[in-house]
Amino acid sequence: MYITSAPSRAGPDHGLLRGMPIAEFIPAPATPGARNLLLQEMRETLERARLGGFFYPIATGLAFVVTTREHVGEAVIVTAFFILLAIARLSLRVTPNPDDRETRRNLLAIWFLILVTTFCWGTFSAWSFLNLPEPAPLVAVLFSGAFGMALAHSMCMRRVPGAVAIASVMLPSLVLLWVHVGPGVAIMWAVYMIYMLLVLMRSYREYRTRLELEEDLRKQRDQFEKQSLIDSLTGIANRRAFTESLARALQRARNGSRASMLIIDVDHFKRINDSFGHAAGDACLIALAQRLQAHFDRPDDVVVRLGGEEFGVVLDADRGEAFERAERFRTDLEAAPLVFGVAQATLTVSIGCGGFDPSRHADADAFYLEVDAALYRSKLSGRNRTERASENSRPDPSNRAPTGSVLPEPSA
Ligand code: GH3
Ligand code: MG
Ligand code: MG
Repeated sequence: MYITSAPSRAGPDHGLLRGMPIAEFIPAPATPGARNLLLQEMRETLERARLGGFFYPIATGLAFVVTTREHVGEAVIVTAFFILLAIARLSLRVTPNPDDRETRRNLLAIWFLILVTTFCWGTFSAWSFLNLPEPAPLVAVLFSGAFGMALAHSMCMRRVPGAVAIASVMLPSLVLLWVHVGPGVAIMWAVYMIYMLLVLMRSYREYRTRLELEEDLRKQRDQFEKQSLIDSLTGIANRRAFTESLARALQRARNGSRASMLIIDVDHFKRINDSFGHAAGDACLIALAQRLQAHFDRPDDVVVRLGGEEFGVVLDADRGEAFERAERFRTDLEAAPLVFGVAQATLTVSIGCGGFDPSRHADADAFYLEVDAALYRSKLSGRNRTERASENSRPDPSNRAPTGSVLPEPSA
């Protein structure tokens, strides 16, 4: 049984809960965090409800087994009915990514089935008290207590339906114990029921705390993941993000798309630090990162700080177009001084530029090393120029800073 049928957005309600005013029972979550909590609650409620359903036919079966054979007809009907309810719980399905409304409706449907089961159990236990010989009523009462405890511990995601479920399995026995056994036993049973309700409240608090803790951990993990891809000085993507973007771009290129790479190194950056100080040097790098981002601003352009005063750009372009765009950036930068804080300076850059060729480049490292070698040649040829990567070039490891070595592993 599907609780909902897709698409469900804003349409009429489906299935079990047709026409039920969902918002009155479960208000819509106001934040993305609350939405995640509700989704997790719904999934966990469903999981526990599926498992719990089969204890009821086992209990009715046992209650009949211990009694005489004259009730075989009722035994079959009652047990079959609880088996059907358990199967109904088991066959509840939810779509992989339900929207808010669907999640709330699913939750209502699950609780609806749970409460139908517990009310039916309460009715059965009362009926067994009145109609079955001992020890069937005793078995039913004992199971009512066990179900009350199980509900208090495991169906603690919501207080009101949880309390109603406990009351529905335990109250009929309370009344019958009072009438047929005596007030003493009934009062003991009432105390036990109240204790179960208190356990439910405590389990509920613990459940909400765990849910919120898990949500906080999820948020922190997402934040760390985001931060791990960002350069702390300039705020643009970092070398790790570069590795990931490059891997994606090269995969697209292997499927027929294009991919090019630029490695850009500031010429004589030490002089900026020497002239203006290290803090101004930092500001200069931030301004340069912004200039790069403003220039390489197409949707598929990826600009990163590789480290120090070295930047990388991944472009969805062939090597000719990449060279033109690199040259335009280089000449624009030279033409307009970079302003950082109260200082300004005319920067020039040397650029290595290459286009990915799947037939020649075994992997991202091979491609990177070739473009890096082109950057090295542009430095050797006098700086402030763009050099194309060429097939036979090899980088001189002695010249390159650590940033020029092998690419870091992409994150999982
Ligand atoms: P070249 O033209 O050969 O590239 O000369 P260069 O001075 O730019 O190159 P080199 O690699 O010799 O020096 C890079 C300098 O960049 C050295 C270092 O002090 C400076 N630098 C690296 N990272 C930072 C940073 O985060 N902030 C600042 N202010 N300076 C940095
Ligand atoms: Mg430099
Ligand atoms: Mg450098």
